[in-house]
Amino acid sequence: MDTQIIDGKKIAADMRAQLKKIIQTLPKKPHLAVILVGDNPASVLYVNHKVKAAEEIGVFVEVHQFSPVMTNDTLVEFIHDLNKDADVDGILVQLPLPTPLKSDLIIQEIDPQKDIDGLHYVNLGKLFVGQPGILPCTPQACLALIKSACPDLEGLNAVVVGRSNLVGRPLAQLLLDENCTVTQAHSKTKNLAQITAQADILVSATGQAHLIKREYVKEGAVVIDVGISRLENGKLSGDVDFQNVLGKAGFITPVPGGVGPMTIAMIFQNIIQIVQKKACSKS
Ligand code: NDP
Repeated sequence: MDTQIIDGKKIAADMRAQLKKIIQTLPKKPHLAVILVGDNPASVLYVNHKVKAAEEIGVFVEVHQFSPVMTNDTLVEFIHDLNKDADVDGILVQLPLPTPLKSDLIIQEIDPQKDIDGLHYVNLGKLFVGQPGILPCTPQACLALIKSACPDLEGLNAVVVGRSNLVGRPLAQLLLDENCTVTQAHSKTKNLAQITAQADILVSATGQAHLIKREYVKEGAVVIDVGISRLENGKLSGDVDFQNVLGKAGFITPVPGGVGPMTIAMIFQNIIQIVQKKACSKS
């Protein structure tokens, strides 16, 4: 079987082009506040990607960069100021935060209506009870990529490897909402390969390079690789042993160039949704 590569870069570029048109119809240019603490090279790189993409489509991004020695209290106070600033539509805290800052505690201080990453408990709670809210970006990106390969998911077996609040748990819920039969696997799962080999849709979000090998994949499955890790040779790797599963998976996302660019596009989709909602509530 020929494995088709899901081109996340292209799908994301098409989506950004559509979002750019929508932004031109909004009553104001969306304003995204990004908080970056410290100078972790990966975090700086991710923020730069976001700023570049935002400028291209007409979102105003203000990056607030802080020294890594800042305290939880100072950061919380700053977030409260952004919450009160009527011009700021969305707030994004670039994760991970350096220790001893507590990411989970900090995120809960963001106004849920400005929570661009959809990670506030209010938004996660809404997702789990089926109420409209702001959805987390990476799970939304995974779902969009899955649907680009397989638009109707009803009744399919989906396996999500990973159960973080950032990716695995919300993605499992999104797939359940698409009427998939969902299995959530994690580091304590026994016989992982037997479970993943039943999956029509297989998503891996563990950060364990090359965890998913050929025998883990069902013939023809849609395989979405969220993981990003750095190999000893300095190259980036996903969770899936890409070369090894070619010819068995039906569709696969590459790393890089798969989930990453779509995750960024979803940030902009979320901020547009926030600005549109504000405009509706004013009229
Ligand atoms: P976490 O470390 O929070 O969670 C990892 C999950 O993987 C945990 O649930 C863990 O299980 C599970 N796990 C770890 N090892 C194994 C194993 N050997 N077998 C089965 N399950 C395992 O990571 P995140 O969810 O935040 O991120 C996951 C990966 O996705 C990372 O590589 C991250 O860099 C990447 N990522 C990529 C994004 C993108 O835009 N492309 C965005 C966000 C994340 P347990 O719960 O039992 O510990």
